[in-house]
Amino acid sequence: MLHVVPAFSCIGEENAFAVLARAQALAAQGRDVINLGIGQPDMPTPAHVVEAGIKALRDGHHGYTPAVGIPPLREAVARDIHRRHGVEVSPDSVMIVPGGKVTMFMAILMFGAPGTEILYPDPGFPIYRSMIEFTGATPVPVPIREENGFAFSAAETLALITPKTRLLIVNSPANPTGGVTPRAEIDALVKGLAEHPDVAVLSDEIYGTMTYDGEAHHSLLKYDEIRDRLVYLDGASKTYAMTGWRLGWSVWPKPLYEAARKLAVNAHSCVNASTQWAGIAALDGPQDCVAEMVAEFDRRRAIVVDGLNALPGVSCIAPKGAFYAFPNISRTGWKAKALASALLEEAGVAVIGGPDFGVHGEGYIRLSYANSAENIRRALERMGTFLSERKPG
Ligand code: PLP
Repeated sequence: MLHVVPAFSCIGEENAFAVLARAQALAAQGRDVINLGIGQPDMPTPAHVVEAGIKALRDGHHGYTPAVGIPPLREAVARDIHRRHGVEVSPDSVMIVPGGKVTMFMAILMFGAPGTEILYPDPGFPIYRSMIEFTGATPVPVPIREENGFAFSAAETLALITPKTRLLIVNSPANPTGGVTPRAEIDALVKGLAEHPDVAVLSDEIYGTMTYDGEAHHSLLKYDEIRDRLVYLDGASKTYAMTGWRLGWSVWPKPLYEAARKLAVNAHSCVNASTQWAGIAALDGPQDCVAEMVAEFDRRRAIVVDGLNALPGVSCIAPKGAFYAFPNISRTGWKAKALASALLEEAGVAVIGGPDFGVHGEGYIRLSYANSAENIRRALERMGTFLSERKPG
């Protein structure tokens, strides 16, 4: 008999992967399934980035690199942060990791232990809670509310801090809601955190380049007051359509950097070398590929929001960031997960039920608009027919 440690029973996963597997199984049976479940850009990685990765392989970059990443990429990340956020960070505080999730994993491992509490957004990226539970810490959900435009409420977040709180996870622009927390709210949050100097902050800014309607993304890196306890999470997955390359980066306060480096040495040694060279091309190369992608998402966003608001019993506020819509479906009479499952099985549309992102996700479903405008229109049409003809189950 094998004796796997009990903590492994806490490991959850993104239901998007299960929905994708089911959608693929249905497609293999000949069903026409439109996938609005998956959280990855449907565009290819920009050609000059692909070329840089190939060139690196041809140039012989086949070995281990420093665990924290190659110096020119860490410098490129520091330049990117300066260009986008106007903030100076030392390349020595930058760590290259195999995807944004790894920064999350490291930070949560550093602060989570039985008897401690970690605050995380709910609805939010499901891996936060899964990882917190894995460490034995108590996950404390911070409710993310539609009436706040799915932004963090500084007051509500601060009120949840107790002497046991070790880490606060913030995510803006957010998955699954598309919410962007406005500057005033972040100002208030940082001001309030002055009263809680023992609470570290993990700021997940993986969708930071994707905002709409003139809404500016406001990085937590801008606040000197919390820089000595802030872990900044970003990466290439969403911005440069590089989910499968596995390339992320983080900025760590000095006391945590060495611990993160050791975790990297123990876990993955380094990000594969050619991917790191491709990352330099992404960050230092022309950024119009990013602007074009965001403009395309913006066009689709309008189709999704208008289409959803025309469906019986559905209402959807316009998401200000990322590439997700999180419509309120409570007036349809359906429970969110039952609706998501029926839409997939009966209407051939893959979406994710809100409760897969936390208890506060009931009454909502998540649609990713990382699919063509044509497919989005077809999916909305199918949803409309389904909701008009099918009684809630
Ligand atoms: N953070 C959020 C909020 C996400 O939605 C995702 C991916 O969906 C990640 C982090 C992880 O990104 P990566 O693929 O770089 O690990």
